[in-house]
Amino acid sequence: MNTDCRAAAREWKERAASLNKEFGGKSLKHCGDLDGGKVAVTPGVLKVCGSATHENGSPSICEYLTPTVNPEEFLSGLGSIIRENQTGTGPCVGCRYLKQTQMPRKFVSSFISYMSLHDFCGCNSQCVYCTGSEYHLPKKYVASLDHEMLFNNLLTAKLVRPQLTSVGWGGGEPTLLNTFEKVVDLLRINRMRQTINTSGIRFSNAIERALKARLATVQISVDSGTNDTYSKVKRNQHCDNVWESIRRYASTGGDLIVKYIVFSMNSDAEEIDCFVRRSENVGVRKISISVDARSVYTQNYGVERITLKELVAASLLRNLARTRDIESHLGGIWLPEHIEKINEISNFPGTPSLLSRALWKLKSYMKQE
Ligand code: SF4
Repeated sequence: MNTDCRAAAREWKERAASLNKEFGGKSLKHCGDLDGGKVAVTPGVLKVCGSATHENGSPSICEYLTPTVNPEEFLSGLGSIIRENQTGTGPCVGCRYLKQTQMPRKFVSSFISYMSLHDFCGCNSQCVYCTGSEYHLPKKYVASLDHEMLFNNLLTAKLVRPQLTSVGWGGGEPTLLNTFEKVVDLLRINRMRQTINTSGIRFSNAIERALKARLATVQISVDSGTNDTYSKVKRNQHCDNVWESIRRYASTGGDLIVKYIVFSMNSDAEEIDCFVRRSENVGVRKISISVDARSVYTQNYGVERITLKELVAASLLRNLARTRDIESHLGGIWLPEHIEKINEISNFPGTPSLLSRALWKLKSYMKQE
C-alpha cells in the first residue's frame, strides 16, 4: 500500500470512530443508507442514495473531483447530513426512509459496501419515457472521472473490498464508456458483484464473462413485443440486435432480467403475448413488470395516466410468463392500489386458452371503465 492509501485507510478509521462517538447509542432520525457504506457517484459530487427518494433528491455528501474518495471529507459530509436531519430542515427531511432510530454504538461501515455510478451520460437509445435529456448533451459517453482509476485507488486503500463490495451501473448507457469492458473485468476479477442496466444494443463480452461467473445481474428493458412498437417506444432501429444480446446473455445461465415498462404505447394484449413468446424463444427466465413513472406521478408530464388497460396488461404478462415457466415480479413504482388491482385481475386460471380468456377479460374490464 502506498503512503496515500495508508493515510486514507487511517483517516477513514479515525473519522468513523469520531462519528460513532458522536451519534452511536442515541435515538436519532436516521436511515440505513447514512452509514458511510453506500455512495452514489454523480458528476462532481458524491451522494448518499442512488436515485431521488423524495422530492429534494439525494443528499450530497462531498465533492468528487479526483477518482477516489477522500475519507475525511466524505465522513465529515455524512456527519453534517446526520446532524442537520435532527432539525426540521435537514436534507432527508420529507423522505419516508428517515425514521426515529435507536443507533447502535458502532454504526459507521468500515468500507464502502455499495457504490452506484451515475456520473456518465450518453445513450444509444432514446426511450420516450426517459427523463434524462442531459444524456444527449454533446459531452456524450464520458464518465466524469476514470472508473478504472477510481476502483484501483479504492481497492488499494481497502475502501472497497473484494467479495464484499457491490457496484451498480446507472445511466446513460454504460457499454458506451471507453473503460467499461476493463472495469467490468476488474470488478469481476475482484469478485465484486455488479448490477448493470443496459439497452442491450451493444453486446458486451465483459458482461457475458461476469454473467458466466455469476457475479452480475443484468437488466435490459425491451418494453415491446413487436419490432414496430420497439422502434416507437425506444426510438431506435436495433430491436433485433437487442434480442440477440438477450439470447447470448441468457445462454450463460446468469442472472438476466428482461424488463417491460407498461404504459399506453405498449399495453395491447397482442403486444404482451408477442413479448412473452419472444422471451421464451431466446431462453429468458426472469421478467420484471414495471410501469412508466410519468403515468403514475402526480405531476403533469403530458402523458396519459395509467388506466385499467395497463393493469390488465401487467396481469396478462404475469400470467403468460407463468404458463411458460418464466419467473416474473412487479418492479418500479406501482402504487399499492395498482398492485391490488393487478392481483385481482390476475386471478384467472392459467390454461392453454389463457390469451383468449385474457382478451375476453380485458374487454369486460374496458367496458366497466
Ligand atoms: S432518508 Fe431518504 S434521502 Fe436520506 S439517505 Fe435515506 S433514502 Fe436517501
